Amino acid sequence: MSLPLPDALPPCDVAVIGAGPSGLNAALVLGRARRDTLLLDGGPPRNAPTRAAHGVFTRDGAAPLDLKREALAQLQPYPVTHLEVQVADVQPEGDAFRVFLEDGQDVLATKVLFATGVRDLLPDIPGLRERWGRSVYHCPYCDGWELRGQAVGVLGTDDATHHLALSLTSWTREVTIFTDGPSQFTDEQRLDFERLGLNVVEAPLRRLEGDGENLACAYTDDGAFAITALLLSPKQEQASALPARLGCDLNDKGRVLTDDVTGETSVPGVYAVGDMTGAPQYVMSAAASGMTVAVAVNTRLIHDARLREGARFHKGARVPEQEDTVERQHESTTGEPDA
Ligand SMILES: Cc1cc2nc3c(=O)[nH]c(=O)nc-3n(C[C@H](O)[C@H](O)[C@H](O)COP(=O)(O)OP(=O)(O)OC[C@H]3O[C@@H](n4cnc5c(N)ncnc54)[C@H](O)[C@@H]3O)c2cc1C
Repeated sequence: MSLPLPDALPPCDVAVIGAGPSGLNAALVLGRARRDTLLLDGGPPRNAPTRAAHGVFTRDGAAPLDLKREALAQLQPYPVTHLEVQVADVQPEGDAFRVFLEDGQDVLATKVLFATGVRDLLPDIPGLRERWGRSVYHCPYCDGWELRGQAVGVLGTDDATHHLALSLTSWTREVTIFTDGPSQFTDEQRLDFERLGLNVVEAPLRRLEGDGENLACAYTDDGAFAITALLLSPKQEQASALPARLGCDLNDKGRVLTDDVTGETSVPGVYAVGDMTGAPQYVMSAAASGMTVAVAVNTRLIHDARLREGARFHKGARVPEQEDTVERQHESTTGEPDA
């Protein structure tokens, strides 16, 4: 007979919210630091639609969900509890945080680490959404090698599109830019396209067609264009509204602002990692930020505990007045805490 779940889970040191590359690596590092870590996993990582994650150290071409499966398996020896659940709310409670889960449970966490990523806002063009990550892409560093020398399209008419189109010439010179209506490019940008021999099509883009998830043709009011892939720089939003609701400051691009060294947000005790911050949006960068911020969180927990035990000095830092300054100087040169 299965017993009903208690509403409140045992308190944890750190609630890691999100199990993409950044959250998974943060949970690994925190677990290995003997922190009771709760990994709250709301679903697949951002690159789940794609067949293969590229540019990943020792794992180039691995399927994103295989990487996740293996990362979860490697958490087994450590005090990390993995729950497949969305977080519904986070509220301050004394010096800690009460984390509310969508299944009705809640947990008290000393620190909260957001790893909730971003959502790509794709344009509503027939045939586009279902090919996202399969033959419609955003990043030549992720998928450019597979497209080398082929005829590809670039969709958009802003600075990011200009940058993307010019970058792509490193992989292929057969680039057609679809502005899907009147061009907003500057004269200088138009001149760049002309000089490099890149075709610009200003007619509305009506639909994308091809065999299944593959792309063969872009249909515009000016005719049909044979392309094997379309690239664009989609607008993005935070995948979760929770950091903003909790009071974390965002920058003008909607990214959560964090301290460069510690990853702490404007709300003390709340940290953020990966795509949702201003960091470069790659698997390795996300995982790396999970590592460095987990170290910073653990350092904070060590300091708080040692201070409570009455220690006056830790790692050569005079506490409490000068602790932060000296601590940060030390971390920025060594990158590691002294447990
Ligand atoms: C189509 C595509 C292809 C890509 N290909 C590559 C590539 O080849 N190489 C590369 O380096 N990068 C690639 N990327 C980029 C890469 O996917 C991201 O940089 C990386 O996934 C970011 O990791 P993250 O942990 O910051 O966020 P994410 O991977 O977005 O993970 C965030 C997690 O948080 C969870 N979450 C959100 N809200 C909640 C909540 N309220 N409660 C609980 N959980 C929540 C989500 O479900 C998700 O699991 C690609 C991206 C896309 C879109």
